[in-house]
Amino acid sequence: MAKHTGPVCKICRREGEKLFLKGDRCHTEKCSFDRRPYPPGEHGKSNLRKKQSDFGLHLREKQKVKRMYNLMEQQFRNYYKKADQTKGMTGLMLLQFLERRLDNIVFRLNFAPSRKAARQLVTHSHFSVNGKSVRIPSFIVDEGDEIEIKENKRDKKIFKVAMEVAKQNPIVEWLEVDPDKFKGIVKRLPEREDMPQNIKENLVVEYYSK
Ligand code: SF4
Repeated sequence: MAKHTGPVCKICRREGEKLFLKGDRCHTEKCSFDRRPYPPGEHGKSNLRKKQSDFGLHLREKQKVKRMYNLMEQQFRNYYKKADQTKGMTGLMLLQFLERRLDNIVFRLNFAPSRKAARQLVTHSHFSVNGKSVRIPSFIVDEGDEIEIKENKRDKKIFKVAMEVAKQNPIVEWLEVDPDKFKGIVKRLPEREDMPQNIKENLVVEYYSK
C-alpha cells in the first residue's frame, strides 16, 4: 500500500479517534477531529451509525496502529511476522517492536513533537545510540541503550524547544530523559501497561492470522 500523502487529520477522522499525528496542533482548538469528529467525505456523518463487520473492525484497528506509528503496509506486516516468530504473546511483541523503533523513542523522549518529525530528524543524522551515529528510523533499541542528540546539532532551535518541553513534561516510565545532557536512556523494555491503551492489538493479530 502506498504512503499516505493526503491531509493527515483525515486519518484521525477516518479512524474515529485522535492519533496525535501533528504534534502541538493536536493539543489546540485547531484539531480537526475535535471540530469534526466523524469520518471525512459526503456521507461521513451517516457512516458513523453503520454497524461494522468483524472484518471491518479488524481492518480499521490494523490501519489505525499502522498509521499511529507512521508505517507502510509492508513494514507493518513485517513487524507482525517478526512478532509472530518471537517467543511471547504476538500482540504484545508487535507493540514492543513498534515502541522500540528509534523514531518512536525520539518522540517518546519529547525530542520531537510527532513520530513523523522524529523520523525526519533521525534520517538527517541528528542522533547517536551508545555513541554511534544512527540514521535508521526502524533501528530497534534495547534495554540500557543511550540515545543522544549529537553535540554539533544541539544548538538547533528545534532541540532547544524540545529540551524545554522535555523538562516540563513527564515521559513514559520505561524511558528516562536528561535534558541537560541532551540524552535519554531505555531503562527497561515496555510492558503492556506502558504502551498505548487505545490499541486493541488482538484485533490486529486476528486480521493478519486469518
Ligand atoms: Fe489528529 Fe492531530 Fe489532526 Fe487532531 S490535529 S485530527 S489529533 S493529527
